[in-house]
Amino acid sequence: MRQLSKSKIIAFRQCPKRLWLELHMPELRDDSGSEMAFRIGNQVGAVARQIFDHEENGRLIDVDEIGWDAAFSETTTWLATTAAPLFEAALRINGALALADVMLPETAHGSLRWHMIEVKSSTTVKDYHREDLAVQTYIAQHAGVDLASASVAHVDNSFVYQGDGRYTGLLKQVDLTEGARAMAGDVESWIDHAQQVAALPGEPDIETGPQCSKPFDCPFLHHCSANQPRTAFPLTSFHRLGAAKREELADQGYTDVRDVPDEKLSAVNQRIKRQSIAGDAWFDAAGAAASLAPHTGTAWFLDFETISLGVPVWKGTSPYRPIPFQFSLHIVPPGGEMTHREFLDLSGDDPAEAFARSLIDSCGTEGPVFVYNAAFENRIMRELAARFPTHADDLRAIIHRVVDLLPVARNHYYHPAQHGSWSIKALLPTICPDLAYGALQGVQHGEAAQQAFIEALAPQTTAGRKAEIKQQLLAYCKLDTLAMVKLWQFFRGTTTV
Ligand code: SF4
Repeated sequence: MRQLSKSKIIAFRQCPKRLWLELHMPELRDDSGSEMAFRIGNQVGAVARQIFDHEENGRLIDVDEIGWDAAFSETTTWLATTAAPLFEAALRINGALALADVMLPETAHGSLRWHMIEVKSSTTVKDYHREDLAVQTYIAQHAGVDLASASVAHVDNSFVYQGDGRYTGLLKQVDLTEGARAMAGDVESWIDHAQQVAALPGEPDIETGPQCSKPFDCPFLHHCSANQPRTAFPLTSFHRLGAAKREELADQGYTDVRDVPDEKLSAVNQRIKRQSIAGDAWFDAAGAAASLAPHTGTAWFLDFETISLGVPVWKGTSPYRPIPFQFSLHIVPPGGEMTHREFLDLSGDDPAEAFARSLIDSCGTEGPVFVYNAAFENRIMRELAARFPTHADDLRAIIHRVVDLLPVARNHYYHPAQHGSWSIKALLPTICPDLAYGALQGVQHGEAAQQAFIEALAPQTTAGRKAEIKQQLLAYCKLDTLAMVKLWQFFRGTTTV
């Protein structure tokens, strides 16, 4: 019988085939796109060790350093004898093993019991956390741990960091002891079935479906969908259809946008179907021009890049609150030359106030400020106004001038190559194919910009690499606002400024 880790049992819960592939063909995994989540998870875990070790007498079991046998043995000894916190405690039973994030001692009437905590970087308790904790609880109890209680500690996004490395209050504990214990029978059966799947000679015959993205994006999707029949316009090419509706249509035998009857579709998805059949764009040129006509004078095109940290590092900031560190601004005066301004702070200090000041200095005082998806930029400016009251009036004046290009695009244009998305990256190649994000070096989308920013600030990043990242970030953000200029020209019916 194999020793299945808790993560393997949770993989089995998502899909038996995923478990089998993880065990037998791990080289097929594609984990690209998960780096940010891993990084945040590690940061939250490290801070948890600080939070739960008030007296600094805890011990971290480092499996990578000491190996599994020593980890099990040291855990057993510590839990039996030492009334101090233990982190990454290694627990095993016949057929399953787990690392417990935090074990806190509870001494009463001379006996030593343990409170087990699973640390999660999310801001709420999810259903799969309950299963995760149930597996952990089952393994701990059957490994002989005298468990008093078990809880999940998740990030409290109302926490405000006060600086000086003080993170007490970052994590919020939710006691789930009863629920975890009540699932013991389920866990036993999961382990049993997972062992049966692990022993199969070949991968289980399971087709892709809703389980491939729920509760996690499966890293084997590329492998599992490789041999499935493809269509040019799968149901994912509808706009905001929702997984449940998509599943419903798939259950009715529909796989292609073009085959779904109109009566089952919203007006926007009927249009997507029509243009997918026609194979060309729909453009209400008169409507687009009319919606932009009132916005005259010098046109400003603005885009922000922000960083959202699970563990805030700047005083006065909260977990996952986006902090702006970069903007690009193209300026188009009527009949004049287009100019460009930009801001990027890679100093490592809180970039927010310098960003606000530079933005106010750069945006002038009149003329429409075009953005793409105004909810985001307006939110950032409102939050800056709340944090820095001395700049509030100036920031509100910019918000007052904001004009959103997204509804103009959504209401007046669709090309089948957008596949149901009106993101600027989906739209741009259909209108202005010579401006390509794919031609950019390094940073080609928002998450890559966040990763690049974090890398630039890391102490081990060389000056040369930092300079390279700076150029990549500047080029990426500049392309975003240049793309907006092109869209604006197209929607106005002018190709020149
Ligand atoms: S991609 Fe879907 S079907 Fe394939 S292993 Fe993952 S969850 Fe299972």
